[in-house]
Amino acid sequence: MFASTTTPFDDVSTHAVTDKHSDNGSRDPIVIVGGGIIGLALGWQLLRRRKRVTIVERDRAGRAASWIAAGMLAPHSEVGFEEEDFLQAGLQSLKQYPRFLDELEQDSGRKVSLDSRGTLIVAFNRDDSERIRRLYDFRQQLGLPVEWFTGSDAIDVEPSLSAKTTGAIWLPDDSQVNNRSLVDALKEAFARRGGVLRENTNVTSILLLEDRAIGVKTNDELLSASRVVLAAGCWSGQIGGVPTEILPPVRPVKGQLVSLCMDSEFKLAHVIRAPDVYIIPKDDGRVIVGATQEEMGFDTTPTAGPVMRMLERGWEAVPSIYDLAIDAIEVGLRPGSRDNAPIIGASPIENLYYATGHFRHGILLAPLTAYALTDLIVEGVTSYDLKPFATSRFFATKKTVGKRLARQDQWNCS
Ligand SMILES: Cc1cc2nc3c(=O)[nH]c(=O)nc-3n(C[C@H](O)[C@H](O)[C@H](O)COP(=O)(O)OP(=O)(O)OC[C@H]3O[C@@H](n4cnc5c(N)ncnc54)[C@H](O)[C@@H]3O)c2cc1C
Repeated sequence: MFASTTTPFDDVSTHAVTDKHSDNGSRDPIVIVGGGIIGLALGWQLLRRRKRVTIVERDRAGRAASWIAAGMLAPHSEVGFEEEDFLQAGLQSLKQYPRFLDELEQDSGRKVSLDSRGTLIVAFNRDDSERIRRLYDFRQQLGLPVEWFTGSDAIDVEPSLSAKTTGAIWLPDDSQVNNRSLVDALKEAFARRGGVLRENTNVTSILLLEDRAIGVKTNDELLSASRVVLAAGCWSGQIGGVPTEILPPVRPVKGQLVSLCMDSEFKLAHVIRAPDVYIIPKDDGRVIVGATQEEMGFDTTPTAGPVMRMLERGWEAVPSIYDLAIDAIEVGLRPGSRDNAPIIGASPIENLYYATGHFRHGILLAPLTAYALTDLIVEGVTSYDLKPFATSRFFATKKTVGKRLARQDQWNCS
C-alpha cells in the first residue's frame, strides 16, 4: 500500500530490526515532517544512533524561520520573569552547543563557529536604566553571570555604542552562531549520514491506524513510517489526519528584520540589545537589525513603519549603521505555542511525536531538542526532563484519545 523510502546507510537495517523502541519491529524509517533546524537536527542525531530517517520538506530545507533568525543563543538575556523552565533548557542547550558543533563538523566537513563574545543590554536615559536595573537584579538573584556597567565602561568595551549610553548590563556567556551556515551544515551532515531528504514535497496528513501513526500522505503518495515526528514550525497545527483538538497549538508570530552590509569602517564585536531593537554583527559581513514581534497570521509582507522604527532605534544605539547599505528586509514566522514554550515529546497518539513551538528560541534549543528527543525515540527515556514542554499541558491523555480513535474504523487510512 505504501511507498517505502530507503537509505544507502547499509548497516542501519540490521540494527533497526532488532531495536524495539525506534521501529517497533518495522523496517520503515522514522519520518520527520518539516526540514527546519529542528527537523534537520533531530533527523541527523537519529541517524547518528543508526536509525533510518526520512525528512519530508515542502519547500527547501532550512529556508523558513531557521534561515531568517538572528542566531542568538541568549538564555541569559532572554529569560523573562517566571520563565525558569525556559532558562534551564536554554542553559543546557547552550552548554551542549560545543559538542553539537564538533559532531557536526565531523559529519559535514563544515566548521560552524560559536561566537561567545557576549551581549550588552544598553540604556540611554533614566527610564531605560531603571528597566535594565530590574533585569540585572533578577539575573543576580538567579545566580547568572552578569555585570553592571556605567555608560563609559560600556563604550570602552564596545566603542561603536552611542555617546549617549548611560549604562549597560553585560552578559558574558550569551553567544551567537551563523544560523544559515548551521542549517546548511546540518543538511550536509544529514545527507552524508544517509538520511533521505525529500524537498518540495508537501505532507498533507499524518496517517493513523486506530490509535497509531503509521505514515504520512504527501500530495502524490503515501509513505509508511515506524514513527512520525511533526516538526513543521508554525505550520504544525495545520496538518491533516490528526484530530484538530490534539494538534500542537502553534501560531505564526511575524518577525521582520533588516540586514545591512558591513563596510571596512564598521566595527561591532558584541550583540547589542537596546530598547525595542537588537544589533548583531554576523561572520558573513551582515549586520542584523531586528526584530519585530507581530501577531499578523501568516502574513509575510515587509512593512515600512516597523522597519523605519527598528532602523531608527538601531541608529540611536549604534550610530555607525547609518551609512551601511541595505542588504535585505526579511520576514520570518516564529512558531509560537499557546504559552510560548516549546512542545517536545510524545503526542497523545502512539508513534507520533511533536517537536515544535520553539518560538524565539529554536536556534538556541536545537541541540537540546535533538539530543533529548532522540533519546526518547531510541531509548524510551530522555536525557533531559522534557516534562515542562510535554503535550500533556494542552491535551487529553493517550488513553482517552486512544479510546476515541479506536471507535473510528481506520481513522483516515483509506
Ligand atoms: C526574525 C526572527 C528572529 C529570530 N531570532 C532567533 C534567535 O536569535 N535565536 C533563536 O534561537 N531563535 C530565533 N528565532 C526563532 C527561530 O527561527 C525558530 O524558533 C526556529 O527556526 C524554528 O525552527 P523550526 O524547524 O521549528 O521551523 P522552521 O524553520 O519554520 O521550519 C519548518 C519547516 O517545515 C516545513 N513545512 C511546513 N509545513 C509542511 C508540510 N505540510 N509538509 C512538509 N514540510 C512542511 C516548512 O517549509 C519549513 O521549512 C527567530 C525567528 C525569527 C522569525
